[in-house]
Parts: sequence; C-alpha cells; structure tokens
Amino acid sequence: MNAAWRSFADELARWRDAGRAVEFWWRDDDAARPDPALARLLALAQKTATPLALAVIPTLAGKEIFEQLDGGVSVLQHGTDHRNRAALGEKKTEFPAAEPPAAALQRLATARERLAKLAGARFLPVLAPPWNRLKVSYLPQLAAAGFRGLSQYGARAAAQAAPGLAQVNTHVDLIDWHGTRGFAGEEAVLAAAVRHLVAKREGRAEAEEATGWLSHHAVHDEAVWTFLERLFETARTAPGVHWPRSGKLFHIS
Ligand SMILES: [Zn+2]
Repeated sequence: MNAAWRSFADELARWRDAGRAVEFWWRDDDAARPDPALARLLALAQKTATPLALAVIPTLAGKEIFEQLDGGVSVLQHGTDHRNRAALGEKKTEFPAAEPPAAALQRLATARERLAKLAGARFLPVLAPPWNRLKVSYLPQLAAAGFRGLSQYGARAAAQAAPGLAQVNTHVDLIDWHGTRGFAGEEAVLAAAVRHLVAKREGRAEAEEATGWLSHHAVHDEAVWTFLERLFETARTAPGVHWPRSGKLFHIS
C-alpha cells in the first residue's frame, strides 16, 4: 500500500476508533446517451454493488439509457441542456447572471418533468447543476419548482440549502480538469477525501454530510477506472464505512 492509500486507511481507522461511521456517496455526471463508457460505469456499479447517483442531462437524454439501469442506480438532474451560457468573463455556467430568474426556473421545471417521466421511479428531484454552478438567488425558489435536493461541489454550509431543499455535495473530483483532463492521481484524490473527513472530524465542516466522489464517465482514462475499482473494493466493505443510497441522503426515499 502506498502512502496515499495508507493515509486514507489511517483516516478511516480514526473514525472507526472514535466509534463513528464514515459515509461516502458516488455521483457521476453527464449521462445522456448509451455509450461504452456509460456501460462500463454501470457494470462497475453493479459488480461492486456500489449505489450510483447518475446525473443525467434532461433534454439530451434518450429513453434507452434508463432501460440499462439496475436497482442500485438513482437518477439526478444535471441542469437542463448543459449549454454554457456564460457571458464573456463569467465562469462556465448554464445559469448566467444575465438570464431572467423566471426563465431559468421555468427551464429547470420543464426539464425536471421530462426527466422524471423518462427515469420513472429512479428519478430523484435533485439538481446537480453543470459545472456545479447555480445562482444563489435561485435556491429559495427551487423547492417551488419541484426540487427536493441540490448537489454541488465542496463542503456544504448547512444540511438545507433553502427550506425544503436538502444539500449533499461532492468533495473529491477524480478528473484533473485544468491539467491533463485525465485522472487527477491517487495522491490528490485520496488527499481530498481525507481533507473532508478530517474537516468533519474536527468540526470545521458540517459533520453529517456524506463525502462525495465525483466521476465523469465520458472522460475516464484507464487510471480512473482502476482507481474506482480499487476504491470500491477496499472502501465498500471496510468496517464502519457506509455508502447510503442517494434517496436516503436527500431524505426522499
Ligand atoms: Zn456536466
């Protein structure tokens, strides 16, 4: 075991010694159409019996992908069409500052209805906005637009982003977006997981938030697949480590 895996295992042991359960969850983004990478993702989830929250792009999704999902997969809403509407100088976002709020919320509600119909019982009305970005001013209005949950990136400030809107974020991005656009590396990835666990243990992060692993099947290189397999093999069955289904995390089902 190398140093990165060793310090990850040590942190899990600290939780165990303290009599506390570690909660992990797994979100994968950008599903829309069937392709070999998605098939490989679903096979991995099934083989390792790991609950998967699949963030699907509503307006691009075809009904075929939902036929391939087994019982361990929940469907979250990945924005509406994943189009970058950022103005010059704005960071990538589907929800730019200039868009009238009513238009954005209508777009979200229409997309939610489409995805709910396609995904059926697997659908959770949880919004995972593309690039993890959403205007904060929309949060109080999301519940009225039919959403019960929100998932972004980084330690959440509170269990509810707004009344009626549970928030559970991801904290460990497997991809090095600004560099190779491939695997971020065991060292960086495991260190990010340890950082969130330590912050929760020491009271610097909200203690009840499950630590989320974020993958993007479409850009996985072999190193990402190998890492995920090892993560699930080791941390799925480790004593005191739980991977709750996302319905439970978001208090929906
Ligand atoms: Zn995305």
